[in-house]
Amino acid sequence: MADQVDVRICNGRVFIGGGLVEADLLVTGEKVVGPVTRDHPVRGRTEIDAAGKVVLPGMIDPHAHTRVPGYEYKEDFTTCSQAAAAGGITTIVDMPNVEPPTTTVKEYEEKKVIAARTCLVDWGHFVSPTKLDQIPAFAESGATGFKIFQVKGGYPHDPRLAMDEPERIYAAFSAIARTGLPCLMHPFNQGLMDYISDVTVASGKPRDFVTFSSIYTMDVVWRSAVAQVLELQRETGVRLHLLHTHSQGSLRLIRRAKADGAQGLTCAVDLKYFQLTDRDLREQGPRAAPGGFITSDPARMEAIWTSINDGTIDTIDSDHAPHTLEDLERFKQDPWTGPFGSPQYDNMLSVLLTDVHRGKLSLATLVRVFSENPARLLGLYPRKGALLPGSDADLVVADLDKEWKASDETVYTKVKWTPYRGWTLKGKPVLTMLRGSVIMQDGKVTGKPGYGRYIEGVPQRV
Ligand SMILES: [Zn+2]
Repeated sequence: MADQVDVRICNGRVFIGGGLVEADLLVTGEKVVGPVTRDHPVRGRTEIDAAGKVVLPGMIDPHAHTRVPGYEYKEDFTTCSQAAAAGGITTIVDMPNVEPPTTTVKEYEEKKVIAARTCLVDWGHFVSPTKLDQIPAFAESGATGFKIFQVKGGYPHDPRLAMDEPERIYAAFSAIARTGLPCLMHPFNQGLMDYISDVTVASGKPRDFVTFSSIYTMDVVWRSAVAQVLELQRETGVRLHLLHTHSQGSLRLIRRAKADGAQGLTCAVDLKYFQLTDRDLREQGPRAAPGGFITSDPARMEAIWTSINDGTIDTIDSDHAPHTLEDLERFKQDPWTGPFGSPQYDNMLSVLLTDVHRGKLSLATLVRVFSENPARLLGLYPRKGALLPGSDADLVVADLDKEWKASDETVYTKVKWTPYRGWTLKGKPVLTMLRGSVIMQDGKVTGKPGYGRYIEGVPQRV
């Protein structure tokens, strides 16, 4: 080994081989050289003191709504990636529900040009397979993967992107399976949602966002969709990553399918469903939507935590979905057509580290669901999602003991609010490194727009 490397991260505990190891970590150029013992003589041109801290692989999130193009008043690649860097996230993949929606190679290429100039973390694009003939062309041009929405109430659940007819899903799955790329899916029984909404409002319930949230999160609205989608996945062999799996019934079906040997089937849950409570919905209003109805159901919460810990849930993703507070007013006026969702990146890792302190999941599980498994989904492991010799030097130094209060004032997301406002959190990222360069230190993002590198789709056969 050379007697000098670019960076030596000293005195920390480094996450290697599934646990924390007392070691210094060496980085040269964009890559991890490896861990060394404290008394190893090699010097770093830069030395970073991580005493009392942990060094984790950079977090990876395949569920960003960067809002580009078309909705830049909510977010853009710079502010989205700044929020990611602040939160210890080094790779993101964005979604196609923008304006114009990403349904052709041309729109994908145009978005990629904007992101290349403005994104400061590594990024990819999930595209919409609504135009079947575009699927092979997308794969050839390097799209990271695909996203299907079954939901179609109104933007951001853009009806132009919705595919809920089984024959269309079957056709898209078949074509995507041939590319070997991942297909993310928001499973949803829109017809049932609409019917139950009509009946509920006719029975005298107010047509407000609380009623909407109670129906939108109903177990049957999700599991009845998942039941059908799993059959189409089995038949076509598409690499399917199911999103928003907070339904107890969906988790039961997915667990059974995996036990039966399903190949290429993974799923995710996102924070807003299993963190935000009744009280948040009462006190914060639409900021916390559609939260509360799951966290107040002990059986569902137990199913989610059990699934995170036993591997039924493969990833915890952000669904980082910023809307302005004015947009949320529209949601308040008409929740069935107005936009909802919440920015997540700034605080997501801290929310999960707080759960580690509460004993809800181990640090190893957190790394598995927020770094290793997302890297596997994208075909990047162990180049990303690990701190092995030769891995990209993407890492986050975190202070596990730091107690602090989340607030709107400190977030980088363009909309400048967080659904976790006022929450006392324990654990905070204090330094983020992407490919050997520090992009955040002590809460200040220093990464430069354009530093991010594109994550091309990696075909994997199941
Ligand atoms: Zn989303």
